[in-house]
Amino acid sequence: MSKTRVATVWLDGCSGCHMSFLDLDERLLDIAPLIQLVHSPIADVKEFPENVDVALVEGAVSSDEDEEKILKIRERSKILVALGDCSVTSNVPSMRNQFEPNRMLHAIYGDGVIPLGGGPVPTLLRKSRPIHEFVNVDVYVPGCPPPADLIFDTISNLLAGQKREDAPAPKFG
Ligand code: SF4
Repeated sequence: MSKTRVATVWLDGCSGCHMSFLDLDERLLDIAPLIQLVHSPIADVKEFPENVDVALVEGAVSSDEDEEKILKIRERSKILVALGDCSVTSNVPSMRNQFEPNRMLHAIYGDGVIPLGGGPVPTLLRKSRPIHEFVNVDVYVPGCPPPADLIFDTISNLLAGQKREDAPAPKFG
């Protein structure tokens, strides 16, 4: 039986959703034989691969780099899962949306030069936004972070060829 090609992605988030994924603990051993983890901050693969079956995306879209990534992820993934409130609503990253990005950076970093725009630091978009404003999302998994049980049920259902109808009710925050 061919394994399901699974990717996890970290956009503008705190990695808490990935920590919750690791909180599956011994259940990771149940899932491991069924999947091939083809991309993840845990595996440190640099380029998002082609032909991904399920992509779990943590974090909002806050920079030009995030936007480029989410478009590529959508193009290369059959099922895209918005993992956590930052991905679903923009949550914590959107707290900066009331400020103009350059003024905010100046207020935080002072007069020093920040190598934005073609440099090593991605350019911020005017606002941090949820991923569904850029691409179609197939499954939403709210929570900050989503509980490990909900992540497990979501992945199990997807591996069984179902969406998340039977999983516990999601809860924001
Ligand atoms: S949803 Fe919460 S835990 Fe997940 S990346 Fe955002 S702030 Fe972190």
